[in-house]
Formats: sequence, C-alpha cells, structure tokens
Amino acid sequence: MRHMLGGMSFPPSAAPCDDVQRVLCVFAHPDDVDFGAAGTVARWVDEGLEVSYLLVTRGDAGGFDETPREAMPGLREAEQRAAAAAVGVKQVDFLEGYADGSVTPSLALRKDLVAAIRRARPDRILTSSPLRRWDRIAGPSHPDHLAVGEAVTCAVYPDARNPFAHPDLGAAGLAAWTVREIWYSAGPDPDHAVDVTDTFDRKLAALRAHVSQTAHLHELDVMLRERLGGLAETLGLPGRLAEAFTIIRTE
Ligand SMILES: [Zn+2]
Repeated sequence: MRHMLGGMSFPPSAAPCDDVQRVLCVFAHPDDVDFGAAGTVARWVDEGLEVSYLLVTRGDAGGFDETPREAMPGLREAEQRAAAAAVGVKQVDFLEGYADGSVTPSLALRKDLVAAIRRARPDRILTSSPLRRWDRIAGPSHPDHLAVGEAVTCAVYPDARNPFAHPDLGAAGLAAWTVREIWYSAGPDPDHAVDVTDTFDRKLAALRAHVSQTAHLHELDVMLRERLGGLAETLGLPGRLAEAFTIIRTE
C-alpha cells in the first residue's frame, strides 16, 4: 500500500553492497547515531569496516538538568567521543558553524559535507532520514535530522561526484568521489533489519555515555529492548533485537 503513495515514502531497500570498506556516519546531534544505529555500527566495526562519525552540531540545545548552557557543547562532544569508543569507532569529527535547532540543508552545509565525503571516500553513508515520520513527530522528525538527511543526499548526488562542483575543493586536492549507497535511519517504514542482539550491550554502553541525555532515562534498557524487539518481530526476526534502515543505491 505504502508504495502507491509515490514519493511520500521510501521505495523498498536495495540489497547492501557486499564489498564495502569505508562507512561515514553523518548526523545532526551527538546521540543520534547511537539511538538509531550503534548496534549496527558495532557489527560493522567487528566485520573490519572502517567507520567514522561526522556530527553537524555539538547538540548545544540538548540536556535535561542544570548544566550551564555554555558547558553543553564541550560536554556533548566528549560524550559522543566516549560513545564512539564504546562501539570501536575512533574517528569522530564535528563541523563548525552550525547550531543545534537551526540546521538547514544549505549550500554551505552541502559544501562542508562534500569536503568530508571527498576526504573520507566512503562506500556507504549512514545518515538520518530526510523524510518525516508523521507517526512520530518527536525524535525522528526533528527538523535538524530532516535537514541533515536532505543535505547529505544532495552532497552525495550530485555534488561530491561532480568534479566541476565546488572547484575550490578540487583545487585543494579533494577529488570527486561517488558514494555507492546511503542507509537512512529513523525514517518512515524502514525495511532492512540488522540483528543487533549480540551488540546490544555495546549500544547500551554508547547510549549511557551520553550522560547529559540519558541519565534521566531509568528504564533505558527496557525501553530499548522493547523498541528493538518490536522492530525485529515486525521484520521477521522474532525473539531477536534489530535496528532498521532504508538502503538506497546511489551509484
Ligand atoms: Zn538528534
């Protein structure tokens, strides 16, 4: 039924490329990658893929306690680095000049993403969905998430592969690069399940590393098991825990 909507949702996922070496994960805020995909990232690291993170903001509008606001960016950067370490990701970079809550899919952001893509030369990009989930406005449909998903998609096609786009980047030695697939997290109707039962503990550790965001969630373990168990059940992995994505080939 959903596919009769024509453009309102994703098409069915493509099969993932089986010879991926490098993955770049691009998200708006510290913790986005961990809520949506840390179990999958841990699996990729175990499989020998080279995974790096790029965060567009430091999540300066987040938090739930009396932490001084000016301390938040540094605190959340450190939390994201600790969370990355919990799943074995060593390379974590942050863009400069973007504020939590005001991200748009601007040409400036596209250009920064093109530079990052040409530097990392990933086969696969994992990012947030540019499509809104009308059934869950809170969380997945944060405007920064949608904006980053859109800007990443535009950076993958056409910008990063077009040698005539952003000529100053090319002149600086960042050659055109074609990303082969995008995995979208937290979008509508994800249909590609990754079994994260065996990496669940590392996902939980990554989420707990975001102390300023998760310390108040006393039932985090239970909440996650419920959500990931439900996804697994829906996508044909009963009794397991799963994260789910939409995969689009972008070659
Ligand atoms: Zn977020």
